[in-house]
Amino acid sequence: EINGPLIVVSNRLPFVLQRKSDGTFVRKQSAGGLVTAVAPVVVECKGLWIGWSGTHDLDPETAIPEADPSDNAPTAGLLSKQIIPVHIDRKEFEDYYNGCCNGTIWPLFHSMPDKAVFQAHTWKAYCTVNSKFAESTLNALRSILADLDKNGKTTVTPVVWIHDYQLMVAATHIRHKCDEENLRCRLGFFLHIPFPAWDLIRLFPWDDQILQGMLAFDFVGFHIEDYCLNFIDCCCRRLGCRVDRNSMLVELAGRTIHVKALPIGIPFERFVQLAQTAPEYLKDTEKVKVIIGVDRLDYTKGLVHRIKAFERLLENHPEYLEKVSLLQISVPSRTDVQEYKQLKDEMEQLIGRINGRFSQPNWSPIRYIYGCISQEQLAALYRDAAVALVTPLRDGMNLVAKEYVACQIREPGVLILSPFAGAGGMMHEALLVNPYELDEAAKTIHRALAMPLDERELRMTQLRHREHCLDVNYWMSSCLSAMGALKTEDGDVD
Ligand code: UDP
Repeated sequence: EINGPLIVVSNRLPFVLQRKSDGTFVRKQSAGGLVTAVAPVVVECKGLWIGWSGTHDLDPETAIPEADPSDNAPTAGLLSKQIIPVHIDRKEFEDYYNGCCNGTIWPLFHSMPDKAVFQAHTWKAYCTVNSKFAESTLNALRSILADLDKNGKTTVTPVVWIHDYQLMVAATHIRHKCDEENLRCRLGFFLHIPFPAWDLIRLFPWDDQILQGMLAFDFVGFHIEDYCLNFIDCCCRRLGCRVDRNSMLVELAGRTIHVKALPIGIPFERFVQLAQTAPEYLKDTEKVKVIIGVDRLDYTKGLVHRIKAFERLLENHPEYLEKVSLLQISVPSRTDVQEYKQLKDEMEQLIGRINGRFSQPNWSPIRYIYGCISQEQLAALYRDAAVALVTPLRDGMNLVAKEYVACQIREPGVLILSPFAGAGGMMHEALLVNPYELDEAAKTIHRALAMPLDERELRMTQLRHREHCLDVNYWMSSCLSAMGALKTEDGDVD
């Protein structure tokens, strides 16, 4: 049970607003696992969600629409008064989001500094936008505290839970004002991407401000222990903080910040259900084994390496011609950013060349979808694919690996996973392969395709058991507990 009000803050609201032809707005739901897990908790504790609405056209005076009565999405129970949109003008958003978040922080934190652009004006926009989120949060906090105090609940402490790399310095401002105005709250943060090592962080000209921003929280969560240790090391070396690596504590200005690894999971049972009911989309090609790849079109996902490894397999093992094909789904992403446009072109050329080289009248080695597919279709493709290739060069966690194993409800396939994804450190029964080593990657695909049924069963059973136990609901309650937001059995705060 949640102890007191929860304010969730993320770059985007859990749904985006879309303008209809009559000028009014409707909610368009997001299907992500995070929203599925967090939204019901915000509903239950009558909390708030603060974020950007996904449009610059929303007038600050316009009310957020209520959910459609027929809507059964997890966010449908969120009343419009629980949603606080943050208004950011177009130019500022461009510098903050495409500029600093996705042009600088994303590549740097994924250990690809050559792709990062360092610019003072985009960093300034990042700080300004973070302050806007902080202001909205403070306004919400002040009114929640006024209500609590009016009702005599002066010992209840609201929890503010801020998400991800877009909002790493928002707490600086919140902490300052809370101290100044004597506002009580617990501040928690979760980073959904990797936290890199000190020798990368130090390339960022304003690294001290990021670290200080993160240390303005009471609690900082990452997916895996490596990211926690990188963060603690940076605090020690850059800011001279006293740290305790065993207990994962950092001290700054008389405060102690708790750091913890909390690996996110997926809505396991929802994927099983989808896989049980979804029709077969690969029926016509049942004589051909399908290897599946599902990713946002992002340079961190190792797509070019993956396609080249598959080409190497066909070169080295001509017995797979007409017997195996790679189905790659690439979801368009950040299409305004130059690096992403280049990757799209590179992928299309590469796939065109390989298909030209190996295709037969009734078979092509690679089927390539540039677009989104439905959750139901995705579950069916996961279920029916013989192999999943999840080979990012760097990835905070990677949910596709987990969704694939959840959907393996028939004859089990094989998961091939990169050790450079957060998931690679935990899904031990997958075949791990370094995506930079093309020959090894091709050999691993061969091994997966040739793996006997009993070995596949053994591995998949273990993988599925772990993901079932450590699903997104487990992650959610672990986060709430780490932030001190849960009541213990005797009614005390945990
Ligand atoms: N996904 C989706 N639509 C698609 C293909 C994938 O919504 O057409 C989802 C997929 O189910 C997964 C998410 O996108 O939950 C990708 O998450 P992941 O952690 O693998 O990578 P990220 O995109 O967050 O870097």
